[in-house]
Amino acid sequence: MTVRDLLGINIGLVSLVAFFAMIAAELVAIRVFRARGAVPLKDSVASIFLGLMSDPVNALSAFLTLGILSLVQPFQIQTLPLTWPVFVLCFVLDDLRFYVHHRIGHRVRWVWAMHMVHHSSENYNLPVALRQAWTKHFTGTMLLKIPLVLAGFDPVMVTFCGVLNASYQFFLHTETIDRLPRWFEAVFNTPSHHRVHHGANARYLDANYAGTLIIWDRLLGTFVAEDRADPPVYGLVSNLGTYNPFRILLHEYVGIGRDVLRAGLSPLQRLAYIFAPPGWSHDGSRLTSTDIKRNAALIGETSNPETEAP
Ligand SMILES: [Zn+2]
Ligand SMILES: [Zn+2]
Repeated sequence: MTVRDLLGINIGLVSLVAFFAMIAAELVAIRVFRARGAVPLKDSVASIFLGLMSDPVNALSAFLTLGILSLVQPFQIQTLPLTWPVFVLCFVLDDLRFYVHHRIGHRVRWVWAMHMVHHSSENYNLPVALRQAWTKHFTGTMLLKIPLVLAGFDPVMVTFCGVLNASYQFFLHTETIDRLPRWFEAVFNTPSHHRVHHGANARYLDANYAGTLIIWDRLLGTFVAEDRADPPVYGLVSNLGTYNPFRILLHEYVGIGRDVLRAGLSPLQRLAYIFAPPGWSHDGSRLTSTDIKRNAALIGETSNPETEAP
């Protein structure tokens, strides 16, 4: 099989069939074999609805990204061939691109408004993997793919690597798998590492942004190992309390609009309500993830008698 054959596969369709087969397998594992995990009906219906609807919307808008990448293609510094080594290199570099995109998604409110949809479930199961926003091609972070095309990779190959990466991440969303072999946990993103990423516990915030390779978190200082003594509490710092997919999709955008239109703000403050980290406020009345982590550390220091000076 050549790379050209591979790029011709309808990976979206293949993935969809595999996703539902895996969700059925997860249900059997939990209900019949008493594996760890839960798949609550209402929450999962909301996740699957968001996923099924995001597929065509994202597929159509992917053409927007592909169009921009094709416009950049004539300015490539070289043209790399469609070979397996080039494909593997493209996948690894695109995985780093995903890490950067994901980190921005948690630190810039405009992008978080899109990405928080994925984090809005208080459960952790395979349907949660499908809980995706419909606006990912409109946040601007897809422009991070441009350097890959300029470096010589084919825009179709770059797009395909992104889809393949997203498909790998589907399998991370489960509690039924505890730990994988040590060497695998060291190199690859796993259910354990990604459970941490979905945890709203202070110590798990802003950790494990990886797509496929966990090495990026280890190299860039954002890796946190899952602690069995402190299991992840899934969801958002302030949960939405709704299963309505449209309210989930629009929640943060409405919040941004409301904040930007407040009376008496400076232009810079209005901009900060769009681009500052989630939880930023002009009067300090809200908490960012950095504030939450700092407060948690302070509480830990002052309330633990063992750390108090004699
Ligand atoms: Zn995330
Ligand atoms: Zn996830």
